[in-house]
Amino acid sequence: MNKLLTLSNISKSFDRDRVHALKKISFECDKGDVISIVGSSGSGKSTLLRIIAGLEIPDKGEITLDGNLINDNNTFTSAEKRDCSLVFQDFALFPNMTVIENICFGKKAANNETLIDELMEFTVITDLADRYPHEISGGQQQRVALVRALSNNPSLLLLDEPLSHLDLELKDNVRNELINLIQKVGATVLMVTHDTKDAMLMADKIIVLNDGQIDQINSPPKIFNFPANAYVARLFGKTNILPREHFPDISHHFFDLDFGKDVVSIRPHELKIVHKNVDTKIPTIKGKVVSVQSLGSYSEVLLVNDEIEVSANIENDQKIEIGSQIILTIDKK
Ligand code: ADP
Ligand code: MG
Repeated sequence: MNKLLTLSNISKSFDRDRVHALKKISFECDKGDVISIVGSSGSGKSTLLRIIAGLEIPDKGEITLDGNLINDNNTFTSAEKRDCSLVFQDFALFPNMTVIENICFGKKAANNETLIDELMEFTVITDLADRYPHEISGGQQQRVALVRALSNNPSLLLLDEPLSHLDLELKDNVRNELINLIQKVGATVLMVTHDTKDAMLMADKIIVLNDGQIDQINSPPKIFNFPANAYVARLFGKTNILPREHFPDISHHFFDLDFGKDVVSIRPHELKIVHKNVDTKIPTIKGKVVSVQSLGSYSEVLLVNDEIEVSANIENDQKIEIGSQIILTIDKK
């Protein structure tokens, strides 16, 4: 059996039913999967992770982990008895304990010694063993928290926003370290993030949460190229949501409540400027340039006509003036 984690119809409310943080969440996770849960702030990501960890009790629903029922109407397996480890967003290291004391806290040392040594070597924190958390960098604190979690040898590793506190410069390195570590131990990982770039780069599968509900579950390229709705499309970067009737050649479309009709998602980089003698079979958008913002290698150009407003990324070698009429084509199927 390859299924490691199964959630069915998990719901959770706070404040006497005023906040519906999770509504009937169901999904499965196979052994060895790296799954990312993404969604805007307040969409229920941390609550979902805390429920799986056993730190929060759901109102309804069932959870099984590695074949064991850990949650239903009559069952609640406590956090310490669940075969999973949660790494908190702020790492939750004890400030008055050294690195090694933090890692060994609550463990029967003899069982884990070799694994701890190995993980500390691999993450290059062996020499920091006697330091206190305030004496090491943010990236190093994260490695300590990960080693503490992984040295329990959990079936499932839960990570809440593991990269959110790092500045951009550090982030790429720490992300790669994390990918290496996950691969080394062959961990099954459920990782919450609001940064869709992290999800795209790390996950085999992405779960998109929107206001406590799952909008889409799919691989990163599928989610990016075939979003289920406008929320998912916008979460993964700037895009133009436009009525489908203008673009009958684009195959992927979805219904949108705000428009009250079928729409398509066209990303700014999928639009190209063309000159007048273009093949008439290629669909085009004609309009007036109302703003041009240079972003270094390209400019964000806003074009309007009587029907729509479109944002396009145009290479900087093409000079575009505000007020001029231009024609765009769509480089998308
Ligand atoms: P995310 O991690 O996606 O930002 P959370 O899971 O933290 O979202 O929160 C989801 C919703 O549940 C939010 O509206 C939040 O205010 C609410 N919530 C979370 N925890 C509690 C709590 N302990 N008491 C009351 N409301 C909560
Ligand atoms: Mg959160």
